[in-house]
Amino acid sequence: MPRQKMIGLFGGMSWESTAAYYRLANELVRERLGGLHSARLLLASVDFAEIEQLQSRGEWDAAGALLAEIAQSLEAGGAELLILCTNTMHKVAPAIEAATSIPFLHLADATAAAVRAAGITRVGLLGTAFTMEQSFYRDRLESHGLEVLVPSAADRAEVHRVIYDELCQGQLLEASRRAVGAIIGHLGDEGAAGVILGCTEIELLIGPADSPLPTFATTRLHVEAAIDAAFA
Ligand code: GLU
Repeated sequence: MPRQKMIGLFGGMSWESTAAYYRLANELVRERLGGLHSARLLLASVDFAEIEQLQSRGEWDAAGALLAEIAQSLEAGGAELLILCTNTMHKVAPAIEAATSIPFLHLADATAAAVRAAGITRVGLLGTAFTMEQSFYRDRLESHGLEVLVPSAADRAEVHRVIYDELCQGQLLEASRRAVGAIIGHLGDEGAAGVILGCTEIELLIGPADSPLPTFATTRLHVEAAIDAAFA
């Protein structure tokens, strides 16, 4: 039987996308091995209301400490590699990496590799305001040679609102699908050749057919990288 490392997942941010991580990981293992095979996973799932409060108050050190503690419990539980199932909380990736000795697969690295493999260097980024406006995520993408474009202030506010008020609460609305599709169109007008769906819930709303630009779906890309690593 092929050796499969156990993947530790930081989930619940929000659980709507963590559920997609769980399903995709198992589907990918089934594709590889067939039959009754499934992914070896250890999931720690937080109360997202607590995380959102820390985010909106700017209490990132406290958020980092909380996730560092979870990283240690995932490692102690037998996880051999870690994935953080949210783009935004990669702001505290350094705290997680400092707290454990097992590999941490950064979502922006997996995403940048896919964008580069598609031959794209100028790419749009959608995500929470934290992800679009702060440097932690864009710098990481840019370190792979990408040029990153973000929407206008009004468009960023709309994407952020859709994420927290709708997608993280399980609401997929047609009007928002069209609005986000139009925002991607604006990024295309600015010269983006593709768009990173840099929030793990956005791909629940936007599929390739809803986007005027090629999409890079971060949940799927992250799970693919994790399963590759689990079998490496
Ligand atoms: N899941 C989202 C992301 O990928 C947003 C929720 C959060 O702030 O963690 O950024």
